Amino acid sequence: TMAHSKALLVLENFIAGKFVPCSSYIDSYNPSTGDVYCRVPDSGKEEVEAAVKAAKAAFPIWSSKSPLERSQILNKLADLIEHDLEAFAQAESKDQGKTITFARTVDIPRAVYNFRFFASSILHHTTECTEMATVGCMHYTSRAPVGVAGLISPWNLPLYLLTWKIAPAIACGNTVVAKPSEMTSVTAWMMCKLLEKAGVPHGVVNVVFGTGAKAGEALVCHPDVPLISFTGSTLTAQRITEKSAPHCKRLSLELGGKNPAIIFDDADLSQCIPTTLRSSFANQGEICLCTSRIFVQRGIYSEFLKRFVAEAKKWKVGNPSDPTVDVGALISKEHLEKVRSYVKKAQAEGARVLCGEGVDSLALPAGNQKGYFMLPTVIVEVKDESCCMQEEIFGPVTCVVAFDTEEEVIERANSVKYGLAATVWSSNVGRVHRVARRLQSGLVWTNCWLIRDLNLPFGGMKASGIGREGAKDSYEFFTEVKTITIKH
Ligand code: NAD
Repeated sequence: TMAHSKALLVLENFIAGKFVPCSSYIDSYNPSTGDVYCRVPDSGKEEVEAAVKAAKAAFPIWSSKSPLERSQILNKLADLIEHDLEAFAQAESKDQGKTITFARTVDIPRAVYNFRFFASSILHHTTECTEMATVGCMHYTSRAPVGVAGLISPWNLPLYLLTWKIAPAIACGNTVVAKPSEMTSVTAWMMCKLLEKAGVPHGVVNVVFGTGAKAGEALVCHPDVPLISFTGSTLTAQRITEKSAPHCKRLSLELGGKNPAIIFDDADLSQCIPTTLRSSFANQGEICLCTSRIFVQRGIYSEFLKRFVAEAKKWKVGNPSDPTVDVGALISKEHLEKVRSYVKKAQAEGARVLCGEGVDSLALPAGNQKGYFMLPTVIVEVKDESCCMQEEIFGPVTCVVAFDTEEEVIERANSVKYGLAATVWSSNVGRVHRVARRLQSGLVWTNCWLIRDLNLPFGGMKASGIGREGAKDSYEFFTEVKTITIKH
């Protein structure tokens, strides 16, 4: 009905400092109700072309500003987002299905911090200089922004991950065309409304909404976009690599994971259990860094399992806007079905489900009956070769298995195609160092999880990615270096 369509939120692309409508739109769902509540531009080549043109036109002026001038603008933008933190958090929770608590305490504060962090770090980089006195030469390096950066982000941490790219890209003097996930575009659109007030010149940040196949690929294939920073699945990264190859583009790829937790029998379980619950189920298990293979040393296996399952059952699943809820809705009906199918496959292979999907019943509030909810699920008696132990599930599902020796567990932990993050639990410092060194993983947390210093490299090994992001790493990715030699 007209009344219904009027109530829908309609997003527009943001190109050259202006909101522009699109000729066609995609429906976007509220995952906690199953209702269509928003329409997202279904952009393609034409819209990407306009955005790249605007970004190109803005590059000469933006790239010639001093780091301090750009830094001040980034800080202003951080302040403006922080001022609207509650509105952003509400929007992120509604659009993505995550709990309001998570959006308030993790997503939006981190988006604010991304701008503050790069506003600061851009002021502190130095270049190199060496001397060759015997031939009367000195050499130095100089760094300059590359040009128009293409930024593509996923749906799990929408504004958090998009700003993790926009902030370093523009801090370095690049201009950008960003494409958020078509499933979670609202907070990026809200941020566009603040750019002018922050002092971001027209064309420096352009946002084109739409699908990966149309808008994403048009950006990847555009000859005037020399670098692409992508966060998403390994499959999409392979396609992006192929499509960008004819242009020899610079790529940063942050991809999936199948992250192990290794729990030795000298671990402090009072710390380990609550943290491993969070690392398994936070944000519905929809974080690339989430644990989904828990290796527990045999001596404490039954005790760990008993306590872990008892605690998992206490996690409250329901309306994401209820501040007492721990688990919100998964992103889509399709994704929920996919996550559920893994549990079924495990059962068909002889694994046992100790709690959650298919075992416990899920009571949802009246308004959320058609939402995409699932209980935290713990699987045991599953073989290392099983798809549940090999493939990224990206939902509130974790497998728990026993191990005997350090040597054995390192080999088993490394026996997947991914290498993003790992956690190691032990009170033996020597063991912690030994194991951390041998794990094939871009990040290793010991006796903790998800504590990040943005100064240091973030990224994955093997199928989990190419390149690293962080203060120095992002600076290097978003700038082109030149070595200059002077003879006197
Ligand atoms: P996805 O690969 O389906 O989509 C990611 C983005 O790429 C979206 O914006 C999508 O529209 C776009 N896209 C899809 N096909 C494209 C194409 N052919 N060309 C250009 N762009 C295209 O991933 P997703 O399902 O949105 O996100 C979940 C995945 O992201 C998981 O695998 C997760 O592990 C990964 N992830 C990784 C990190 C990390 O930092 N390593 C962080 C968060 C999520």
